Amino acid sequence: MHSTVVLKFGGSSCADNEKLNIVANKIIEFYELDYNVVVIVSAQGKTTDKLIQEAKELADVPNEREMDVLLSSGEQMSMAKISILLNRLGYQTVSLTGWQAGIYTAGAYQDSKIDYIDTSRIQKELEKHHIVIIAGFQGMNQNMDITTLGRGGSDTTAVAVAAALSADECYIFSDVAGIYSTDPHKVSNAKKLERVSYEEMLEISSEGAKVLHNRCIEIGKKFQIPIIAKSTFRNEEGTIIQNKIEDSTIKSIVKNDAILRIHLTSPQYKSTMVNEIVTFCVTNGILTQNLVNNSTDSLDISFTIKSDKLAKFQNLIETQYPKIEMSYHNVTRIAMIGFGILNNENNLKELMNILAQNNTDIACMEVSESKIAVLLNQTVSDVVLEQLHQKLIS
Ligand code: ASP
Ligand code: MG
Repeated sequence: MHSTVVLKFGGSSCADNEKLNIVANKIIEFYELDYNVVVIVSAQGKTTDKLIQEAKELADVPNEREMDVLLSSGEQMSMAKISILLNRLGYQTVSLTGWQAGIYTAGAYQDSKIDYIDTSRIQKELEKHHIVIIAGFQGMNQNMDITTLGRGGSDTTAVAVAAALSADECYIFSDVAGIYSTDPHKVSNAKKLERVSYEEMLEISSEGAKVLHNRCIEIGKKFQIPIIAKSTFRNEEGTIIQNKIEDSTIKSIVKNDAILRIHLTSPQYKSTMVNEIVTFCVTNGILTQNLVNNSTDSLDISFTIKSDKLAKFQNLIETQYPKIEMSYHNVTRIAMIGFGILNNENNLKELMNILAQNNTDIACMEVSESKIAVLLNQTVSDVVLEQLHQKLIS
């Protein structure tokens, strides 16, 4: 019996014909090693953004069902093109939409979840030794309507298909060569990690590093599928995400400046008002984090939101709570991630040291087995990140 691998190629890897040729050759490399090869593709380049834009030109709020019909077409173009290319190169392939591949979904349009995968069609094609190319980011719900999985959802398709097929590995090929010890655009000696655990990777991406779709890591962890993040274009080792390896080293430091600290006050207060505000925000798609309640007899709370939510947030508060006073300022969050980080007390001491040297005090701190995160009262430059990286990782 052949082992199965799943290879996922992102939008930038499929952007034009030249790149599609590189992708086809990567696929062939695996096929020639005698693997069962299942490929998951994203839409080419910025196709999804373009489709959203075009729909909005036709209607301010496009019909949700039809929006998913439209958005799912981007991935279908990629799968057909790769298939055509591989056929010309002499390989037998079959391209499948999400629903043809048996991917059943549940939940809202544009944000559905994979419910289960009926792999019989995929399996039948693999038995014929065909290369199976599946459109990522999509499936079909109970009503046989097309749904999409949320932006960046092709990663999730890939790992879910790998889990359903009990594949050996799931490769996520993209224009980034792996997971780094910090943002290589900000710190020049950032190094690529050989391996990280699922837990660490979940922390790294939820702190704002945009490498992998969070949901794909959860699936990988649950079904024990090793995920390998790797460059499509450069021939170098990527990063493998797999089970925890016991140590106390810091794997990655993530700095996020796109955060605002909001302060809300009002003399008018009732005992469940904070709960009410949090619920109201979440219902309207705004997540409040790092919340601190400073008073028991008036409203005096602070919390953070993502900077790009400011206009929406301001508007919501003004309409729903016209009596509340609001102020805000830019802050930075720095998270140091590594399972067992607290086993070495030096990690925390060094962080405090470097912040003190830079005259920066902390507004909020969060400590867990795999993370030390601080919210700083002001934005700090990349120099702080560089110093931390130098002391704690390099
Ligand atoms: N094409 C979709 C998007 O741009 C899905 C993906 O790329 O993973 O969000
Ligand atoms: Mg992506």
